[in-house]
Amino acid sequence: MKASVDSKNCWGCGLCEATCPEVFRIESKDDRAHAYAEPTDSTADNVKKAAEECPAKVIEIWD
Ligand code: SF4
Repeated sequence: MKASVDSKNCWGCGLCEATCPEVFRIESKDDRAHAYAEPTDSTADNVKKAAEECPAKVIEIWD
């Protein structure tokens, strides 16, 4: 699985970082979320959850 964030349109709410900090973090340079690591078998479920729950719908995941 791969994941990316359309950071320009992220609201900076922090939900994705709280749900899966191994993959997402809010970066201080722009106060927006970025995917800084690729999902693994152990984080894939939380990455999917973050993508589903992102209020701005800006997390994209694909195989
Ligand atoms: S959940 Fe969505 S809107 Fe909130 S910080 Fe993450 S990418 Fe941005």
